[in-house]
Amino acid sequence: MTRIDPGFASEITKYGASDFNACFNCGNCTAICGLTANDANFPRMFIRYGMLGLKEEILKSKELWLCYACGDCSETCPRQAAPGNYMAALHRYAIASYEPTGLTKLLFKNKLLFILFTSIMALVLGVFLFTLKPDHVVSRWIFKMIPYAVIHNMGLVIFTITGMSIIWGLLNMFLRLKSNKSGEAKKNSCLSSWKEVFGELATMKRYRTCDLEEDSYWKDKPAFQKPWFIHWSVMWGFIGLLAATLLDFLLKDPATTTWWPARILGTLAGLFLIYGTSMMLLYRSRKATRSYAETNIADNVFLWFLWIAGFTGFWMEISVFFTFNHPANHYILLVHTIISMELVLLFAFSKFAHAVYRPLALFYYFRENLSNN
Ligand code: SF4
Ligand code: SF4
Repeated sequence: MTRIDPGFASEITKYGASDFNACFNCGNCTAICGLTANDANFPRMFIRYGMLGLKEEILKSKELWLCYACGDCSETCPRQAAPGNYMAALHRYAIASYEPTGLTKLLFKNKLLFILFTSIMALVLGVFLFTLKPDHVVSRWIFKMIPYAVIHNMGLVIFTITGMSIIWGLLNMFLRLKSNKSGEAKKNSCLSSWKEVFGELATMKRYRTCDLEEDSYWKDKPAFQKPWFIHWSVMWGFIGLLAATLLDFLLKDPATTTWWPARILGTLAGLFLIYGTSMMLLYRSRKATRSYAETNIADNVFLWFLWIAGFTGFWMEISVFFTFNHPANHYILLVHTIISMELVLLFAFSKFAHAVYRPLALFYYFRENLSNN
């Protein structure tokens, strides 16, 4: 049964959509979007869904995640309905709807709460990190108020909630995508569909088509300045750093061995992460295009967290290399660890979650549309 939610239009503005009701269905946005196809008519189709309050149609759509929110469509809309921003808002709405605790909804919709929550979290993580050095004066002071076992168990509970939230969210999305079968559509094998997904993540083949339109702001810019490459740098920079950290942990790498493969991987990945996040922050501060000008505070803070994690990580790397023992290093390491832990803990409750939702949606899309693009 199709459910209509009359309050959806006002709800989605809280996630960052502009006046999408101004749309008069001219189709310019769909015509300019290099990612749309006969079977995936967006963003116009999603604007119709929004106007009609068909939120379930949005949540069970794999096509929603084909959009990279590049914003090209917003530049050409004659009604200033900002369809690109609307698509970005739908991504936030979907992440918040799949996640089961309701925390993401609150954080996306309430700026003040978001700032308060991330600040308190940083404080709690700082306390937690001090307790890892039980003989430190701050730790002894903390243990007088809260026993070690309580702090330890709280940490376990928080990490479990984060992990379960992302698994639950994925299950939620999976069930919706499964319920949205496209009738007689041809099915491609799981293997070939996953190959397409990894090919897309490795090369951003679809995202690259966004810059080719005649009217695109990015058309004549060099590849290293284009949004697809910036996105690629941030994504692979972060994945590389995670892999390097895991390898360090598993192989017990001595922290001072600079040429250890895991550390070379970490250095390269860190450079890509810093480059990508710096460029994104620069484009946002310069309001390079409408999609960079109109962003959500939660997305901005997330980006700053990535940049700080990358920068402080490099600071530590350089300090180790040059045996530079400045007292500030302890605080920089503390900031690095707090921000990195916040990123992990906020994974299920922030824009970060698109890192698992988009591949799943792409998989179902490629099951029916192999090599269409
Ligand atoms: S270009 Fe603007 S007015 Fe035209 S269909 Fe797209 S959102 Fe609607
Ligand atoms: S934001 Fe970019 S990818 Fe998304 S619908 Fe608009 S033009 Fe297409």
